[in-house]
Amino acid sequence: MADNHYKVIIIGSGPAGFTAALYTGRANLNPVIFEGMQPGGQLTITTEVENYPGFEHGIQGPELMDIMRKQVQRFGAKSIYKEITEVDFSKRPFILKTFEGEEYKADAVIISTGASAKLLGLESENKYMGYGVSACATCDGFFFKNQKVLVIGGGDTAMEEANFLTKYASEVIVIHRREEFRASKIMLERAKKNPKVKFLMNKVVKEVLGKEENGRKVMTGVILKDTKTGQTEELSADGLFIAIGHKPNTDLFKGILDMDETGYLKVKPGTTQTNIPGIFAAGDVADKTYRQAITAAGTGCMAAIDAERWLAEQEEL
Ligand SMILES: Cc1cc2nc3c(=O)[nH]c(=O)nc-3n(C[C@H](O)[C@H](O)[C@H](O)COP(=O)(O)OP(=O)(O)OC[C@H]3O[C@@H](n4cnc5c(N)ncnc54)[C@H](O)[C@@H]3O)c2cc1C
Repeated sequence: MADNHYKVIIIGSGPAGFTAALYTGRANLNPVIFEGMQPGGQLTITTEVENYPGFEHGIQGPELMDIMRKQVQRFGAKSIYKEITEVDFSKRPFILKTFEGEEYKADAVIISTGASAKLLGLESENKYMGYGVSACATCDGFFFKNQKVLVIGGGDTAMEEANFLTKYASEVIVIHRREEFRASKIMLERAKKNPKVKFLMNKVVKEVLGKEENGRKVMTGVILKDTKTGQTEELSADGLFIAIGHKPNTDLFKGILDMDETGYLKVKPGTTQTNIPGIFAAGDVADKTYRQAITAAGTGCMAAIDAERWLAEQEEL
């Protein structure tokens, strides 16, 4: 189509975006994927992925995303390594603008911009991400069998992750910056009753410690600071799970698309249809519950099929 006008534009290149591209590509819709600031999405910042079906021995996150990209390119999907910074969904074709000010038009849009785990913001945390530091207990808990792990946070997510991790870890220490918890009473009680869970209050992590072992980075512990006394201490640990929440990447759609109170896009139950016909949402951006690569890929497939059917209906009108 002329003038940067495409049938389907996909915003985001994680498992949801690539799966949407795979299906729309095979449906001859020639999708364009805006890959954004993190081409390949969240899995590019992790190491082993052992729960994505089809890889008997697991696979490295960046490699999995490279394979997905190559697979969709076979079916004519085109990647554009730019970020969308403005959208106009008030009329059709829909208009999307890049950071550089270029304008693109689309008959249907699939939003798969993901959600980012909130992190502590330490350089050492980034350094050991995937080498002891994680933001996902469901994904990485298995790697910490009979080991000592720390969980940062004081909300329901932190309590849930702490309880979950006791299936594998020998000891789980919840570190919280305050005396009081945001977590609901029931979640807190469950964690407190768990004999493997301990609590360290009024502490923040100042640094993640680690070393090189056989050419591989390994986290060895943290430096904690007491928020009341200012005193610091070292605590050894094999793993650190940051459980201070997630932020869906939806700022761009504020005031345009329906969202819940935490910014996740709302879709019509059982579909990927947002409140604007022709705009679909898939993956973590519309899922605060599961947040897994396979569920993102699953809803990416749904969004592609929803978009394809919707486009066909428009042609019949
Ligand atoms: C450290 C870590 C380890 C994990 N391990 C596992 C695991 O082992 N197994 C598992 O199943 N899950 C794991 N997960 C979770 C998994 O990565 C996510 O559930 C999955 O990546 C979500 O896919 P998505 O396609 O919805 O979005 P994401 O992967 O978050 O991708 C979002 C995409 O949107 C793009 N984007 C955002 N805004 C814009 C914009 N304005 N314009 C253009 N592009 C934009 C980004 O550049 C990115 O490409 C892990 C997550 C983390 C953080």
